[in-house]
Amino acid sequence: MPNSKLIDPCNRKLNYLRISITDRCNLRCIYCVPHGFIPKLPHKEILSYEEILHIVRISVGLGISKVRITGGEPLVRKGVYGFLKRLTKIEGLLDISLTTNGVFLKHNINKIKSAGIKRINISLDTLNRKKYRKITGYDFFDQVWEGIELAHKMGFDPVKLNVVPLKGINDDELTDIAALSIDYPFHIRFIEYMPMGTNQMESDHHLLFPEIKKRIDQFGKLIPVEKDMNDGPAERFKFKSAKGEIGFIRPISQHFCNTCNRLRLTASGQLRPCLMSDVQVDLKTPLRKGCSDAELAEVFLQAVRLKPLGHNLSGDHPVGVSAQMCAIGG
Ligand code: SAM
Repeated sequence: MPNSKLIDPCNRKLNYLRISITDRCNLRCIYCVPHGFIPKLPHKEILSYEEILHIVRISVGLGISKVRITGGEPLVRKGVYGFLKRLTKIEGLLDISLTTNGVFLKHNINKIKSAGIKRINISLDTLNRKKYRKITGYDFFDQVWEGIELAHKMGFDPVKLNVVPLKGINDDELTDIAALSIDYPFHIRFIEYMPMGTNQMESDHHLLFPEIKKRIDQFGKLIPVEKDMNDGPAERFKFKSAKGEIGFIRPISQHFCNTCNRLRLTASGQLRPCLMSDVQVDLKTPLRKGCSDAELAEVFLQAVRLKPLGHNLSGDHPVGVSAQMCAIGG
């Protein structure tokens, strides 16, 4: 990484910025948005696209080369496709991706592609229409699936599917979901549920990697895929002769804090050095006061200094995070 100034006290180089562009979402996933919680920051509290682009340019000068746009649901924000087009033009960004629930994918995939986005993660926790409604609160399974197929046909590579396995909710489908990787070149990512915010899922629903992998292994032998330099935290496998692959992201059963290269920018302009900690540094106020780029860069450095060595969700006395995932950006 050339000229990285974002090196934390544990000598981790931070080159990855995840940006939540809105706290709004068009789904109410049971494990993400607590019952009755309607995220809605006042518009003036949300960073404008201009402000986000300004922050990204500063971050690139400090060593950020990888950006993911997330939310809330990023595709509900007005003007998002024009924003993506401007984002992909920023020099020095080598990897720009998008995480979406896929509800608006079908009708907007051309705009996403022509904005220059090549990689998409789509969240899909079930292949069953009724269950989809139960998990997300809405009847959008068919249109999400059509969006996924379209993304594949249009050459997004890879199309990653994010799945959060939950006992008693979708764990009877783990092998069906994993089996998608046989015929499609999809990367299926099983992500351990992280207890965050208020109204967390009861521990009866928690399901960790060893059990998830065991069940999938019983269906078909999982062959390890060699790690790539640009890999994220996923432990990768594939079935013999499969077109796609399967990855496990294990923030709880084996956290990857020692290799974490991420910072997060919330929709309200807070820089968070760790998803699992409530520590954050305010970028919006200095930005709106007209601070110089050097002063804003100093805010980044401050966040980097505050990056904890690791989270404590899996220890003997787990410390929770009070913020909701939908407010921080997953
Ligand atoms: N709306 C977009 C979507 O659904 O992909 C982007 C935001 S969403 C917060 C990003 C990812 O976080 C989704 O794949 C979702 O399944 C995951 N997620 C949300 N809450 C989670 C939790 N408590 N533990 C693990 N993953 C979670």
